[in-house]
Amino acid sequence: ERLVSSEYTADEDLFEQSLRPRVLAQYIGQEKVKQNLQVFIKAAKMRNESLDHVLLYGPPGLGKTTLATIIANEMDVQIRTTSGPAIERPGDLAAILTSLEPGDVLFIDEIHRLQRTVEEVLYSALEDFCIDIVIGKGPGARSVRIDLPPFTLVGATTRVGLLTAPLRDRFGVHCRLEYYKVEELTHIVERTADIFSIEIDDLASIEIARRSRGTPRIANRLLKRVRDFAQVQGNGTITADLANHSLEMLQVDRLGLDHIDHKLLIGIIEKFRGGPVGLDTIAATIGEEPHTIEEVYEPYLLQIGFLQRTPRGRVVTPHVYEHFHLEVPKK
Ligand code: ATP
Repeated sequence: ERLVSSEYTADEDLFEQSLRPRVLAQYIGQEKVKQNLQVFIKAAKMRNESLDHVLLYGPPGLGKTTLATIIANEMDVQIRTTSGPAIERPGDLAAILTSLEPGDVLFIDEIHRLQRTVEEVLYSALEDFCIDIVIGKGPGARSVRIDLPPFTLVGATTRVGLLTAPLRDRFGVHCRLEYYKVEELTHIVERTADIFSIEIDDLASIEIARRSRGTPRIANRLLKRVRDFAQVQGNGTITADLANHSLEMLQVDRLGLDHIDHKLLIGIIEKFRGGPVGLDTIAATIGEEPHTIEEVYEPYLLQIGFLQRTPRGRVVTPHVYEHFHLEVPKK
């Protein structure tokens, strides 16, 4: 298991549930998104209407699920959660839609993975709050129109580019979540420490925040691991020294890079003189799937300016040589 993966692991469920902010005011960072949502939610409530459909996009672990739950809480409605791949047939979607109460939030995670036939049913549901369902087969088949209660679809995706234009256009509100700043992650670490009564020094919170790849989920996970070191090797309090030492033991470096990032970056330097090199070649060199590299490892490396995508392939930047104390080769 990769400690700095932004993907969620099943055993984190309870831990994450207890940490999930319930209202916008508790949601740290993403100021622009929060300010806009605050206005739209207030306006919808004043008009006594359901909130317009909301599309949340950005890298994994940045708080899309949390935000969807907050939207439902702030609108005083129920949330129904599902995901693109879980809705296999149009009938599955119809069953979900017809079970909603007026105003409810339907949260579809990984919405870019919806089947095309399901997506087509969703269009009229989103636009006119009704669906046409075909009943029966062959000459006896007939289409039945079902009216739906007004609802709010909150769609989440890490790959907004894969969404079809008709689906994208049916969302009135588009929110792009950004990687969190170190100060915001520090605040998140402090909040989590507070909830779990963990003693932590200010500098230690900053140290954990710095190594969390801009991602709350990773910040919380690192805090949890460092707490173990504090209990076993220290006196329970997380000091900056203890945080540094534990994170070194956990092989998470000062920028939150782990052995896989190192392998990828050093591989490009040693085998391809820093690039450009194609994604498939990198994948074969480090023994990973190309799409895993593209979706899991690369986004943060691109974000911190360690990697660039060029038409001829991936290139490491001078920051990488600096980070690993290597000399930049003369080309
Ligand atoms: P995925 O895309 O993988 O579903 P996500 O972006 O939906 O991930 P969440 O599950 O919402 O991520 O967030 C992960 C954890 O990070 C949550 O348990 C929550 O406690 C914490 N978290 C996320 N965003 C914030 C925030 N803005 N303030 C405080 N805690 C946050």
